[in-house]
Amino acid sequence: MSIDPAQQIACRTCGRLLNRYLDLDTGQAHYTHPTSERADHDPDPVPADQIDTHHVCDFCSDDKIVYTFRVNPVEMVVIADTEQLIQRYGSNWSACIECADLVQARDVPRLSARIMRAGVPFDPQVIDNLHTMQQAVVDSVLPGRALATIGHWQPTPLPAPILPKIRDRLAQLIRSHDELPLGLNNTDLRDQLAASLDAARLYWIDREFTELTTHAAASLPTTTVTAADAPAPHGLIAWAQPVGHRADLTAATWTTNPDGIRIICYRSIGTGLSAGPLQRLREQVGWLLPHYTTHLRPDDVIDTTSPASAVIATWLLIGQKLTETTTVTADKAIRKAYQRTGRPAPEVRLVRIRGTATTANTHTDRQPTNQPGREHQYRWWVRGHWRNQPYGPGRTQRRLIYLDPQIRGPEDKPIKASTTVRILGTTRRNGTEHS
Ligand SMILES: [Zn+2]
Ligand SMILES: [Zn+2]
Repeated sequence: MSIDPAQQIACRTCGRLLNRYLDLDTGQAHYTHPTSERADHDPDPVPADQIDTHHVCDFCSDDKIVYTFRVNPVEMVVIADTEQLIQRYGSNWSACIECADLVQARDVPRLSARIMRAGVPFDPQVIDNLHTMQQAVVDSVLPGRALATIGHWQPTPLPAPILPKIRDRLAQLIRSHDELPLGLNNTDLRDQLAASLDAARLYWIDREFTELTTHAAASLPTTTVTAADAPAPHGLIAWAQPVGHRADLTAATWTTNPDGIRIICYRSIGTGLSAGPLQRLREQVGWLLPHYTTHLRPDDVIDTTSPASAVIATWLLIGQKLTETTTVTADKAIRKAYQRTGRPAPEVRLVRIRGTATTANTHTDRQPTNQPGREHQYRWWVRGHWRNQPYGPGRTQRRLIYLDPQIRGPEDKPIKASTTVRILGTTRRNGTEHS
């Protein structure tokens, strides 16, 4: 159960949030694992924000968290033979989609049944009083709910043909009554974000270009970013595989405004749910949950430490004309839905490295090097580097160019449909030279 984030205590060994009991006689706190019979170690209490805490639904312990409810603080007093303990539950309760629906419906019997079915190994003191506890919590739930940024969802790439629908659902979520996390819950900002999504260009980055982007993002020099660096004033990017430091981001949006650019990175949700809850998740939330945001003013710098570095690297590589763009035909049902409401047919731009779809098995003149004794299961990009390149009238302006990326790995490992690698070196275009 969550205490306010600042006071949450987790176990350093296993990352789980710990139950905290206060001894009423001595005033001393002691901690237990929520899953006492599973733990093979003693709790090692540490403030939860200092470690990579494993957050779970505060009702059923599932880690696929969608919402946070605000609850008037609930206390449980345990009077046992030898001790008198008090457990204070916090005011923020995380919920998975199924528990959230039951909480919204104030359906305590089904909520308790679900929790028992989930086999949550409660402390013995709790299990006898589960129903009473759940009733107290449900009675204390305050109106409204916020989208959660904690929990774990298996990152899953978004399918390109339904990207218009995913965009529309995200715009609808931003216009909904659910509170946005990350400081985005401001009415004017929400209006701006939703309008920006309506006008967003949709980009789907193929697997090979995503890999290059990940490699380039990891070495991105500290740089400023302006609207001119983005391929469109408003956009949504989906990557063919997860990006970011934890490989948990599958999409990003950006919004140009008079002060700069707002970037939001998202994690994908839905994977691992059965059909019923998945459908409700798609209807209520959609495919994406905001996970990180930044607002970049013209003088602000960004570097590899920012989760948005993947977005910036993707922009710069697109701007470098290292890529070519084709159009993906949107899903037929989506095209018809657009037609019915008089909207122009949605376009999804598939971005890939120039030439990748033509010939397979063409290699560069540089030999991939295999390290003896190590069996690599995939190929990877190496040796690219960024350079600040002069351009424009009198070559007075500078922009970051990514040079000389190469692919390495066993030639027989077919991670990609195509193994063509194009080295920048011969292209001259628009007065820009790639050396
Ligand atoms: Zn532990
Ligand atoms: Zn749950």
